Amino acid sequence: MKKWVIGNWKCNVLASDAHKLVDEIKTIESENCSIGIAPPALYVGGLANTTDHIKLGLQDVSEKGNGAFTGEISVELAKSLSCDFSLVGHSERRELFNENDELIRQKTEACLKGGVMPVLCVGESLETRESKQHLPWIYAQIRSVFENLPISSASDIIVAYEPVWAIGTGKIPTLAEIEEVHAYIQQLLAELHPSFGADIAILYGGSVKPDNAKQIFSVKAVSGALVGGASLDSNSFKSIIDAI
Ligand code: PEP
Repeated sequence: MKKWVIGNWKCNVLASDAHKLVDEIKTIESENCSIGIAPPALYVGGLANTTDHIKLGLQDVSEKGNGAFTGEISVELAKSLSCDFSLVGHSERRELFNENDELIRQKTEACLKGGVMPVLCVGESLETRESKQHLPWIYAQIRSVFENLPISSASDIIVAYEPVWAIGTGKIPTLAEIEEVHAYIQQLLAELHPSFGADIAILYGGSVKPDNAKQIFSVKAVSGALVGGASLDSNSFKSIIDAI
């Protein structure tokens, strides 16, 4: 199973600092995983073809194609800048920008058709976790997107399990809780795509830091991490990558 560590810069890092951060991240090498960064979309043009072995991605992408869609970034435009991947359905997009499962399905499909690998983010709220409804919640999020999805191999897509209550909070689930959900997602993907579903990479995201990364990576069916805050500091990001 292919491993990944992806940094999500969110709406951070001034233009004057972006190249410096990328230059530092470019010095990080790993034999054990692919490394990706998703800077603000504004910077992607300027960073295209400068990131060497670091894969470049978007934090979000439009479900629409090119055309009169002011403010949108289509998969085709992303592809023209050699974007390797795009996050889709990050919880901040779902919660703050009202993205629903159907829109996320459309975005995922647009990525696959346009040759930009989707990194599909799923995860439950604290309320859902506390009412022990997290597995049905994840089931619904995955089923709604994966139904009839045009994928033919495990490397076409990545899933990131990000419990919403762990994002940016410093709280993480127990290792047993992470294992439960990752094993569940893996089984679900295997049922949906019997020939390759079990090999789809499933990243964990939510307060991954240098001091907890090794433990998280030791959990079965965790194939890497989606990292927010700690990806903004190249030393922290490197420590996390070194832990895989
Ligand atoms: C994220 O935004 O995807 C994320 C995991 O953030 P953080 O690592 O800061 O919790």
